[in-house]
Amino acid sequence: MKKLIAGNWKMNGSLAANEALLREIAAGLPVPAACAVAVCVPAPYLSQVQALKAGVPALSAIDLGAQDVSSQSAGAFTGEIGASMLGEFGCRYVIVGHSERRQYHGESDVLVADKAKAALAAGVTPIVCVGETLAEREAGQTELVVKRQLAAVIHTNGHCISEIVVAYEPVWAIGTGKTATPEEAQAVHAVLRTQLKAATDQAARVKILYGGSMNAANAESLLAQADIDGGLIGGASLKAADFLKIIAAAA
Ligand code: PEP
Repeated sequence: MKKLIAGNWKMNGSLAANEALLREIAAGLPVPAACAVAVCVPAPYLSQVQALKAGVPALSAIDLGAQDVSSQSAGAFTGEIGASMLGEFGCRYVIVGHSERRQYHGESDVLVADKAKAALAAGVTPIVCVGETLAEREAGQTELVVKRQLAAVIHTNGHCISEIVVAYEPVWAIGTGKTATPEEAQAVHAVLRTQLKAATDQAARVKILYGGSMNAANAESLLAQADIDGGLIGGASLKAADFLKIIAAAA
């Protein structure tokens, strides 16, 4: 399976910084045939990045993604962004259920599952994030937590579950510089794969990304694991040289 390296810019960037970053990335491309690359950018910059993709040949192979989507299709939901709107701006992906949204915006497993469903209905692939907190890991609840989070998405999406991307992001590893060891990550990925297998006979083609302080130095050993099909990259996706090294590690 082709590995997917997806950058999550979070709430970072500006018109000038985005263009400089993408031009620097473009200078280090083409995207290797063995992997796919995406950048998930803040919503106001979707049209800017869509235009850069059209104007800078090396960027055309990078897919565009958003960082959140409404569970509703349209209507009186001030501030929300519908999945069909993301589609109009060329989004192939949207992150749903990132731990920062679960933590700071109180997003429940059911809401995350509904967001994944809304994305799929509009032809946008949800990158569904699951992951345990440090307290949950220390209490031996890692498996329980990630399975509960994924179960909600499976329950709501039925046979469409084979169309999603999953990202295992241990909350204690996000933005902290602490990474799960390749073996720790693989163990959780294997649990998620088994859960997907019980839900669909297409589980082998569901990409399960690892996220949490993946960087130029640790990417290769993480990506070498049997069930790690790519990475969701926060901090390191904002530095062209680091992002390019991770892409090279995936290829
Ligand atoms: C993320 O926010 O999805 C993430 C993995 O961040 P970082 O790489 O900075 O830990």
